Amino acid sequence: MTKIRTTCGRLTMVSLTALFVVWLYFKRSLELTTLEYQTEYSQLNCKRPEVSTLTSWSAPIVWDGTFQRNVLENHYRKQKITVGLTVFAIGKYIDKYLKNFLTSANRFFMDGHKVIFYIIVDNTSKIPYIELGPLRTFKVVQVKKENWWQDASMMCMKMIGDFIERFIKCEVDYLFCMDVDQVFQSDFGLETLDDSIAQVHAWSYKKTEKDFPYERNPQSKAYIPLGQGYYYYHHAAVFGGTPLSVLTLTKECYESIRKDKEKKLRQYHDESQLNKYYLENRPAKLLSPEYLWDYVLGAPADIKNVKISSTPKEYAQVLLHIISFEQEQHIKEIEETIALYRPPLC
Ligand code: UDP
Ligand code: MN
Repeated sequence: MTKIRTTCGRLTMVSLTALFVVWLYFKRSLELTTLEYQTEYSQLNCKRPEVSTLTSWSAPIVWDGTFQRNVLENHYRKQKITVGLTVFAIGKYIDKYLKNFLTSANRFFMDGHKVIFYIIVDNTSKIPYIELGPLRTFKVVQVKKENWWQDASMMCMKMIGDFIERFIKCEVDYLFCMDVDQVFQSDFGLETLDDSIAQVHAWSYKKTEKDFPYERNPQSKAYIPLGQGYYYYHHAAVFGGTPLSVLTLTKECYESIRKDKEKKLRQYHDESQLNKYYLENRPAKLLSPEYLWDYVLGAPADIKNVKISSTPKEYAQVLLHIISFEQEQHIKEIEETIALYRPPLC
């Protein structure tokens, strides 16, 4: 009896010691992982000391050189992700921009991963022929131009939300929404993925909050008082995240635009509602202006690797169709809006 008790006691001691050793091992490896991660993070960010790579709420700001593509590839390849990309090309924009946008996206957007392009047009017969890569497919959605002209940004938000609910949410893991008047120039890859992704506006990245063209009318849903706000984000040009987060964003922005419209309030800047939304729902990741650069601003030293560049506007041409839809008086208003949107070079 005593012998059995001694054996049991020894066994318990051995088990406890073994458990302790295992716990020590895991604790140490956890510490090592955190340490290694921290070292790697600071090493990577040391590569871009001249720019800010973290927001005050600890969201990364992605610049070229602040990520390791091979590490990301290993992580996401196992998950076999699919990334969606919505693009609107209505009226003249289909002839002018869609081919270059899609050809460049086919090459540079999420290279090596499954992609679905959601192409929203008013005239399907004008969609250019493009030979897509093996992991790329596309879906075409036809919409009516008449509805579009009621209010382009409101319609975009409404439609993207509807499409996500109807089919996109079952088809992709991440979704980006982009303007068509821009061209991919180099890899726009996994480093951009996160729950909610916002694009820092090239025109404002060196400015401070008081100079951002936020909506300053307190009557508007997009109102941001002076002294608030951290970044100025670019509108439909590039935003994204999981389908659910994009759905929430589009619904809220649509509702705000609609309510402002009821009060006959109009924003000069398309991105006003989005900026308000991101102030209240801070994005998980920010893309630096390298991800959407406007060469009208020149080529500053901190813009090392441009992923997408905006196509210069030939307003006279693209506005022709607006002229046929709107009153003469409205044209002056549009020109003033454009003048406001294009601030003088800094
Ligand atoms: N758009 C379109 N047809 C138009 C006007 C706009 O398809 O006649 C779409 C297109 O995707 C475009 C986006 O709406 O890129 C936003 O319009 P735009 O690029 O003119 O706005 P900006 O970038 O100048 O704010
Ligand atoms: Mn645009």
